[in-house]
Amino acid sequence: MIITGSFNGINYMKKILNYINGEYCEPISGAWIDNFDPSKGEVYSKIADSNAEDIEKAYQAAKAAFPSWSNTTIEKRSNILLKIASLIEENLDSLAYAESLDNGKPLSLAKAVDIPRASSNFRFFGHAITQFASEAHESVGLNTMNFTLRQPIGVVGCISPWNLPLYLFTWKIAPALAAGNTLVAKPSEVTPMTAYLLGDLCTKAGLPKGVLNIVQGTGPSAGQALVAHPNIKAISFTGGTKTGEHISRTAAPMFKKLSLELGGKNPNLIFADCNYDLMLEVTLKSSFANQGQICLCGSRIFVEKSLYSTFKNDFVKKVRTLKVGNPFDKDTNIGALVSKPHLEKVKSYIELAKEEGGKILCGGNLVTVEGSENGYYLEPTIIEVFDNQCRVNQEEIFGPVVTIMPFETEEEALQMANNVKYGLSATLWTSNIDRTMRVSKQLEVGIVWVNTWLNRDLRTPFGGVKNSGIGREGGFEALKFFTETKNVCIKYE
Ligand code: NDP
Repeated sequence: MIITGSFNGINYMKKILNYINGEYCEPISGAWIDNFDPSKGEVYSKIADSNAEDIEKAYQAAKAAFPSWSNTTIEKRSNILLKIASLIEENLDSLAYAESLDNGKPLSLAKAVDIPRASSNFRFFGHAITQFASEAHESVGLNTMNFTLRQPIGVVGCISPWNLPLYLFTWKIAPALAAGNTLVAKPSEVTPMTAYLLGDLCTKAGLPKGVLNIVQGTGPSAGQALVAHPNIKAISFTGGTKTGEHISRTAAPMFKKLSLELGGKNPNLIFADCNYDLMLEVTLKSSFANQGQICLCGSRIFVEKSLYSTFKNDFVKKVRTLKVGNPFDKDTNIGALVSKPHLEKVKSYIELAKEEGGKILCGGNLVTVEGSENGYYLEPTIIEVFDNQCRVNQEEIFGPVVTIMPFETEEEALQMANNVKYGLSATLWTSNIDRTMRVSKQLEVGIVWVNTWLNRDLRTPFGGVKNSGIGREGGFEALKFFTETKNVCIKYE
């Protein structure tokens, strides 16, 4: 299917334009990149291939909008964010369709998770900003009063990945706007469509011109120019660890504020005393939801030895029931991977697993879907590994591939869980409260789920340790990141 569009009265294959100063515009260079429908492996639209000139244009718009937006009352800012949330909700069907087409994820998932969560992000921060307060410290006996201002930073940059496109884009934009900043934001070039559509909704919600500027394009061009811009003083980034390293190197000499949400290699620790049926059902999701392309997916499954063979049999049986198919089919559980290069990368790890002595228990093959023969489909894959140090257990694969391995003691489970360079999240399955406390405290991660997975309260801090990033998003943590504190000390007689 080819989506057509029109610009200046000319009809053509849909062009995904930049949204700068409240208006859609073509990239200054006039260059375009192909945008693929992963379910078919076909180009279906063109994306603005923006560069430093477009970033500068967006920066100037954001700079001009800052004095007014940062002085807009909290009530008005909040109302605009709530209006955007409502508009996202009203457009659930078309946004979910666009997300699914662009990313390859099942339409049912985009409808149930991605788009509702994008709306919740705006609604949450629209409310949170009305409750955001700062501290006062009275120096008793010294006739001195301190109060802390939390002021917006100015023009800030937000860069998001392709796996949960609108969900993660809005997770950054909403708090940044709520706190009174103006923005230059870049979605992933792999999934630009819903960020493009968001521009129009922001205009409809009455967001003033220049407050949010969305620049499309590649990481090395538009993304790099955004990070390197000397007057964009804070960067909130979600993406791969390697890109995060590069961004840190660019930003550090300019002393930019950085929030980095990076890769993961999350362990699932399954103890024999867990609620088995619930664990099995949730582990299926934590392994393969969104084709395993969620930074929080549990990709290393460690199972207590006494439960191991039962789990192995039941898990394989369950995974074999998952249907790989076109994202728009109602009964599809696993859609297409996001791109051909990504599919090839994930597949290469399956080959590597075999070389490393891993045993493919199920899956491992590409899937041809009738009517979508060139789409990027892969079977959900379980690999039994025998050494936690093997590369498939140490490197992020970010696809529908999990490993399983037994452990004998709690100490061994913890040691294997922590023996990796990443530290984003972990899932623990046990009914023992003492173990819950002991293990949760010792896991080297930013988030621990016990007897659940991906259970998110937006007030809680979100982020990782080690190579999974620095800083925390969520709740007041995000509002703190997007503001500068200033202490005002008053001496009185
Ligand atoms: P990338 O790091 O490749 O890209 C993320 C974003 O950064 C994209 O918008 C990309 O643009 C841009 N980018 C790439 N190079 C640069 C650069 N030099 N300067 C500035 N921006 C740049 O990640 P993916 O999109 O492949 O996303 C998958 C990764 O994201 C996985 O590692 C996953 O674990 C991680 N992730 C982490 C989460 C967390 O909360 N910790 C949540 C979700 C994902 P473009 O796409 O156009 O190249």
